[in-house]
Amino acid sequence: MSRFWSPAIQSLVPYTPGEQPKVDGLIKLNTNENPFPPAPGVEAVLRSFDTERLRLYPDPECLALKQALAKEADLEHNQVFVGNGSDEVLALTFMALLRHTRPLLLPETSYSFYNVYIDLFNINARHIPLSDDFRIDLDDYCGENGGIIFANPNAPTSISLDLNAIETLLKRNTESVVVIDEAYVDFGAESATRLVNSYPNLLVIQTFSKSRSLAGMRVGFAFGHPELIEALERVKNSFNSYPLDMLAQQTAIAALEDHDYFKQCTRTIMETRQWTSTQLEQLGFKVLPSHTNFVFASHTRVPADTLMQYLREHKILVRHFTKPGINNHLRITIGTTNEMQSLIDCLRTHPEL
Ligand code: PMP
Repeated sequence: MSRFWSPAIQSLVPYTPGEQPKVDGLIKLNTNENPFPPAPGVEAVLRSFDTERLRLYPDPECLALKQALAKEADLEHNQVFVGNGSDEVLALTFMALLRHTRPLLLPETSYSFYNVYIDLFNINARHIPLSDDFRIDLDDYCGENGGIIFANPNAPTSISLDLNAIETLLKRNTESVVVIDEAYVDFGAESATRLVNSYPNLLVIQTFSKSRSLAGMRVGFAFGHPELIEALERVKNSFNSYPLDMLAQQTAIAALEDHDYFKQCTRTIMETRQWTSTQLEQLGFKVLPSHTNFVFASHTRVPADTLMQYLREHKILVRHFTKPGINNHLRITIGTTNEMQSLIDCLRTHPEL
């Protein structure tokens, strides 16, 4: 705490490196990374990269990447924004589009970073509880508001809403921006990207960190009406900042263009998710229906923190949240089949399971 700090940062809790320990030999199922390497084209880009070019600044517009993303989504490049991970895209979105006097509506349980931005930018927000079965009920998201944001599929619950529900929401809220964070959409959920041309109030945010195995490169992006995209560009440009470095721009394009590899990896993860869910259920867990690369599960008898600790002692990291309402659940990233087998084998040795 310092008397020199502005009031908004006094309550901020820095992200602790606890979830990214610098120890070898761990099975890391705690931060929803992809267990497979990026597409082979990414390695090819890195190997053939001419380091002499690094003395130049990267393309500040990221035009080639925006064009590649636009082509994939059947949009124009002025409907695309890119940033250093979707966390940065989200930060700029809060700054540029979600600071109004009317309340921002969001689920009480969703991606925790939203609240960091809400506090930092002093945003008037109304947190709406999930239903008893952990679902977002979009009937609660109406009336005067200064914007709506949620993750779809939601995190950490893993449950997704279908496109019809999203479209109804957009029709009911034409006067405010609706931000849908689709960090996990590629693992079986429906993307709202195809609604972008019909709804000028929709901003869809995605990332290369999960389904494209590029968390280390920090590439995120948004699709939306050019007016929304311009708002993000204005905020970014006022910092005179380059959104992405040269390697991030080029590797992202390579990852995007390998459709077969992408399909193969996401399919494998979904199959492994199904296997893991069945195994967990046999061990007495309740597993929420997942459209993500993780499952959210609670055991009927043994508390989640006990299980998290037990797994940690056996070098398997999973995520446990202390927030009331979800503190008896574990969020388990889907790794390779071997990793998931190790998880299940380890749980089987627990004396109470
Ligand atoms: N949204 C959600 C729902 C997430 O879980 C995450 C990753 N933890 C992000 C956004 C940010 O991902 P990245 O910055 O790596 O793109």
